[in-house]
Amino acid sequence: MIYPWQNQQWQQIARQRQQDRLAHALLFQGPAGTGKKHFANELARAMLCKQPADSGIACGQCESCNLVRAGTHPDFRLLKPTPPAKSTSSNPVLSIKIDALRDMYKALSETSQFGGYRVAVIEDADKMPAQAANSLLKTLEEPGRDTLLVLVSSHPHRLPVTIRSRCQSIRFQVPEAATAVEWLGESGVSNVQTALKLAHGAPLLARDYVEHHAEQRELLVKALNASSRGEASIQYAQKLAQMPREYLLTWLLDWVSDLGRLLTCGSGAELVNEDQRKALEARASSADTGKVFGLHDQINALIKAEGIALNLQLLWENLLISLDNI
Ligand SMILES: [Zn+2]
Repeated sequence: MIYPWQNQQWQQIARQRQQDRLAHALLFQGPAGTGKKHFANELARAMLCKQPADSGIACGQCESCNLVRAGTHPDFRLLKPTPPAKSTSSNPVLSIKIDALRDMYKALSETSQFGGYRVAVIEDADKMPAQAANSLLKTLEEPGRDTLLVLVSSHPHRLPVTIRSRCQSIRFQVPEAATAVEWLGESGVSNVQTALKLAHGAPLLARDYVEHHAEQRELLVKALNASSRGEASIQYAQKLAQMPREYLLTWLLDWVSDLGRLLTCGSGAELVNEDQRKALEARASSADTGKVFGLHDQINALIKAEGIALNLQLLWENLLISLDNI
């Protein structure tokens, strides 16, 4: 089943299929945590299913559905970024491997083994090395008959424009807050206000936060407030270095953005870290606006450099010292 906030996109694609004008390559784009990957996999299952429901959703019971579930359908390829071979890092740099792409090209160019569509989904497609992206162009320019390639990306601007321009774009958005809260409640996730704020309204990120990352953010908040307790914040660097860099830097960016909002809009400003308003207001009262915006740019640059391996302990030591000095 697709998520309740994805009906419009599903109907758009269903209409195009009915009219036989579905593009050979789709680019699913939109904020992280809105369920694009899930939707891409549901679509792949539906395209391969032998007896889909009237809504177009896969039956979940036929031979094709079983093979897709088992990951062994000969006409389906699912690619996702993986860490380098032999990597022991707790924060490895992930990328789509050329070998996996070659296998995908082969599967898409051969005759369908089930006499229907051949489908490939590339999750986090922006994590394709440039060389791999170039080789993808050929497939996009000369698609085989009855093939569908779906690229999924929360950062589509990182994809070469030559690739983006050859795909039909399908956009996903965060749902209305009420829809997100209802869905989270039905999924057994409660106390979602802070989680939804930190996730900028993206339901899957909010669920992921409650289930897996709340403790990590707690530690980050502790480190950020260390100096106000008379503690040295730098002592937290080692622990922070072992946690997922992408999450922590995003939270840190929101924290610094909140400081910027308080400095420019005053105490009525709406905050992402609403649960930390008191601490943020205290910090803003003595902060230097120029330093806050400088740090904001620095963190933004670090987030964009996610594909580059960095010494994370050093990175966190530097960030915590900068934070203490704003
Ligand atoms: Zn089926």
